[in-house]
Parts: sequence; structure tokens; C-alpha cells
Amino acid sequence: MTITHPSASGVTRSGGPDLGRATHLSCRECGADVPLGPHYACLECFGPLEVAYDFGAVTRERIESGPRSIWRYRDLLPVPAHVADIPNTDPGFTPLVRADNLARELGLKALWIKNDAANPTHSFKDRVVAVALAAARELGFTVLACPSTGNLANAVAAAAARAGIRSYVFIPSNLEQQKITTSAVYGTTLVAVDGNYDDVNRLASELAGEHEDWAFVNVNVRPYYAEGSKTLGYETVEQLGWRLPQQVVIPVASGAQLVKVDKAFRELVDLGVVEGEQPAIFGAQATGCAPVAEAFKSGHDVVRPVRPDTIAKSLAIGNPADGPYVLDVTRRTGGAVDDVTDDEVVEGIRLLARTEGIFAETAGGVTVAVLAKLLREGKLDPGAETVIFNTGMGLKTLDAVAPVVGPAGTIAPTTDAFHQLVSAD
Ligand SMILES: *Cc1c(COP(=O)(O)O)cnc(C)c1O
Ligand SMILES: [Zn+2]
Repeated sequence: MTITHPSASGVTRSGGPDLGRATHLSCRECGADVPLGPHYACLECFGPLEVAYDFGAVTRERIESGPRSIWRYRDLLPVPAHVADIPNTDPGFTPLVRADNLARELGLKALWIKNDAANPTHSFKDRVVAVALAAARELGFTVLACPSTGNLANAVAAAAARAGIRSYVFIPSNLEQQKITTSAVYGTTLVAVDGNYDDVNRLASELAGEHEDWAFVNVNVRPYYAEGSKTLGYETVEQLGWRLPQQVVIPVASGAQLVKVDKAFRELVDLGVVEGEQPAIFGAQATGCAPVAEAFKSGHDVVRPVRPDTIAKSLAIGNPADGPYVLDVTRRTGGAVDDVTDDEVVEGIRLLARTEGIFAETAGGVTVAVLAKLLREGKLDPGAETVIFNTGMGLKTLDAVAPVVGPAGTIAPTTDAFHQLVSAD
């Protein structure tokens, strides 16, 4: 079979898609090779595929001379070299914030927050979608789609709008109103499904089989999509002044982000861009959906699916595709996976806001609360340089905190009334 790929420039080429230094796909289970294409499962063993590269030389100077977005790492991603010139959301290079107040409160020596709420649609999902979009166009797809727990819906709808292509976004019908509005506004076809995320995901897989020109970013182009998460790791290292952190705490839904950040650290070391020890990597889940934390704590290699019940809906994947790999990474690096209750999640959101002026969504609350818990339990080193990822924005999950924060009081417009109110403190 001969496949020709219409490239983004409209010129049809033969000989395979232009995905930069990516060379082929490789099975994460049996190592079988598959040519670059719209493939996501191994033909031999049905294992998940991942992108393999021939990086050649990659230097700090070349990265630093690139755009202030994830495209500065284009040589390390499955995208064409001219990717920055193609319409996309151009996410990334979000602030790495030194968090001394929070560190002091938790008894930690040095803490940074990678604030990924500062992306175009206010979550880390813009990274993975931007890479999926760039690859999907090279692979000849004409429509962007996804099943989503909310943030992905925002990111896909916005990226498709920028690219001028159609999109279909599937969400559980019980999603936060803020995330429904902030997806629908981009003019996507938003479909609310009666069921949880795992039901929505199953439906998406069936539809991906029916519609060959639809790129479901996290289904049939998942190998390319997942590579976008590596940029969180690259940026952290570059923004620390080309140094590896010693400990990292990362929220876990499917687990892809955590696994790819570990891969990013290892790639930079292998390429000679940075030196040092691999950081200890910790995963954070909500107790109401903690299949990976449960497996970690009970010493299992397999992750038993659960039915999610938590306010941290962006992390509510009961059957996480990368769960077993998260166990591998956290065990290999001397990390752990832990979970916190919904009350602790709300406390985590408030703690971060009160100490650092950063309003995180529930996933960020999970991460901060797990950081606090791991420190309390002596599983994190309080003397080690620590980075945590705030992956989403509090304005999208207002219901989590609205019941517990509000005005100090409602007063008449007089100085007396004000003095009376504050003296009551
Ligand atoms: C999707 C998501 C995650 C987790 O990503 P995975 O790669 O699926 O583990 C974390 N935080 C937020 C805010 C998300 O939307
Ligand atoms: Zn295989």
C-alpha cells in the first residue's frame, strides 16, 4: 500500500510524513517497530506505541534561540522543523515560580511551582494538543477530536479554531459548567455523554474506527500527543538554569504526563544537555480516583480500575492507560504515588492561593496536598530541591472552593460599619 501525505503547506509528498527527527514508532511492550503513521497499538502484541527519534546534535544554544513556546524544543518532538510557522496555540514556556512562602509553611528548603495555568486555555493540555495537531496535519487528518475530562476539551476546541479545522469534543455530561462553557465558546461540536470518562473514552475509540480522517488526539494519535508532555520536563530543567530538580510532584490522570516528564529528564541527560542524578518522581491522585496510588501502596504491578468519585474531575480516569508505567517510573526513581481526600484538595487549593497568589484548579489542589502529605509522612526530603506542577486554573473549578471562601462580611457604606467588622476579628 502506498500512502501519500498532504503536508501542512498543501503540497502532497510521498515517502512518509515530515515529523522532524522522529524516525518510527516503537512498541513499549515488545519493542516491535512500526513506520510513522496514524498507529497507536502494536500489531504484534497490542501494546501502546511510542515515538522513536534520531536526535542528532541538540544543544542549549539551539534551544535558547528558539521561540518562547514549546516549539523551542521542536527538535525533540514529532513535528516538522517549521512547526512554529503553522497556525497553532503555541503553548508553553510557562513561569517556573519560586515558592518561598509555601516552602516555609511546609518546612521545605527550596520549592518551585511550574505554573501551567499560564497556557492559552489555562491547562497543560495545550502542550499535548499542540503537538497532536501538528503531527495530525502531517499525517493527513482533517478533523480534530477527543474524549475529555474538561481541560482537553478546551485545548482541542481552541487549537482547531486556530487551525481553521472542524472539531468534535466528547465530555461526561456531569462536567463542571465552567469547562463546558470554556469549550463550547470556541465553536466546536461539543457532545455531552451520559456516562463517566471511561464510557466517553470507549465511545471515542469506536468513533475513531469509523472516521479515518478524524484525529482523536488522545486515542489514534496518542503516541504523538503524549510526547507534548515532555516539554514540561525540558522547561523545568532550562528554567532552573539547566539543572535537574531533585524531587518532582506530578498529578496523575492517565499517567502520561508523569511518564513523559521522566523521559524528558533522561533525554536531556543522554543528549549531554544537562548533567546530574535523575530526580525522584512522585505521583499525586485524589482518593476518590486513586487506582495508581493503591497499586503503588500495595506493591502491585497491575492497576485495578476504579469508578471515580472525586471533585478532581480532570484527574478522574478510573482505568489509566499509563498506570503501570507510572509505577515503573516512581519505583525506579525512588518516588511514590499517594492520594488525598477531597477536603484536603480544597485545603491544597486554598494553601497555594494564600501563600503564593496562584489559584489552581482541583488537580493543583491534589498536587499541593500530596506534597504536604508526603512531607508529613517523611517520604519527601525537606532539604531537596523540589518542583511541583500546577497543571490547571482555578477559575475552571470554582464550585470546589465557592462554598468555603467569600466576603469577610457585608456592611453599610460607612467607616463605622467597616471598623466594627474588622474589630470583630
Ligand atoms: C489531564 C490533566 C492532568 C493529567 O494528565 P495525564 O497525562 O492524563 O496523567 C493533570 N492535570 C490537569 C489539570 C489535567 O487536565
Ligand atoms: Zn508490541
